[in-house]
Amino acid sequence: MAEEKKEIPKPLPEITPVTQLFWEAAASGKLVMQRCAECRSWVWCPRPACVECGSEKLSWTPLGGRGRIFAFTVIREVVGRALRGFAGDIPYVTAWIDLDEGPRICSNVIGCPIEQIAIGMPVEVVFEKAGVGISLPKFRPRS
Ligand SMILES: [Zn+2]
Repeated sequence: MAEEKKEIPKPLPEITPVTQLFWEAAASGKLVMQRCAECRSWVWCPRPACVECGSEKLSWTPLGGRGRIFAFTVIREVVGRALRGFAGDIPYVTAWIDLDEGPRICSNVIGCPIEQIAIGMPVEVVFEKAGVGISLPKFRPRS
């Protein structure tokens, strides 16, 4: 019996009261991150309280969306049922990006051949529509 091929969707981010402002900003093409009003730490991923001092005084702060690749890996195989929706993207790059303002964010690097991606490469954010009201921040090389 032939196995039926069916489209498997990628999992989308869950929008919660804590993450809602991040996703609203992303949908309008803006990168924001929580910053602690007490100790000035950046808080990522979105949380109800600062991971450094526990303060709940967090404010959404705009970021310029520019940074450099700290580390990256090339995904060449999908392992596990939950990630099968990404099979059509293989190979793709997942990276840690050091943003100019200091915080580090995990994302994908797109828009250039994988062989050209390097640690320290300057990148800028670009938003990729992934669903109704959801745009994912990804990064592409900048000159
Ligand atoms: Zn803090």
